[in-house]
Amino acid sequence: MPIDATAPYDEQNIFAKILRGEIPNRTVYEDEFALAFHDIAPQAPVHILVIPKGRYVSWDDFTAKADDAEIAGFIRAVGRVAREAGLVEPGYRLLANIGVHGHQEVPHLHVHLFGGRSLGPMLAR
Ligand code: 5GP
Repeated sequence: MPIDATAPYDEQNIFAKILRGEIPNRTVYEDEFALAFHDIAPQAPVHILVIPKGRYVSWDDFTAKADDAEIAGFIRAVGRVAREAGLVEPGYRLLANIGVHGHQEVPHLHVHLFGGRSLGPMLAR
C-alpha cells in the first residue's frame, strides 16, 4: 500500500527497525549519515537500498528538513556505495519512490541502487 509522503514519521516502519538493529539486514556500508543494505526482494543482480540515519519519511521530507551535512553525507554515501560495488562502469540506476504516485511502500527515505545488467528503458509503459 503506497504511503502518504507528507505523513508524520512512523517509528515502527521497517527501516526504522533496521536502523535500531531490531531486525537483521545485509549491510554493505554504514557511516554517520547513511546505511546501505541489500534489498530483501532484489529486482536486479545488484539491488541495494541506501537510507539516511535521520528520521525522514521521503525525499520531500529530507530535502525540506535535513541539514546540509546530512544531505551531503547521504548523497556521498550513495555515490560511494555504487563505486564500491563496481557499478560506475558500465553504469547503474538510482530510484527514489515518493508518495502514492511514486508507489513508495516504506515510509523512511530510501534510494534504490540497481545494477549488474542493462536496465532497459526508464519506466514501464
Ligand atoms: P519502495 O516501494 O518503498 O520504494 O521500496 C521498498 C523496498 O524495500 C522494496 O524494494 C522491498 O523489497 C524492500 N524491503 C521491504 N521490507 C524489507 C526488509 O525487511 N528488508 C530489506 N532488506 N528490504 C525490504
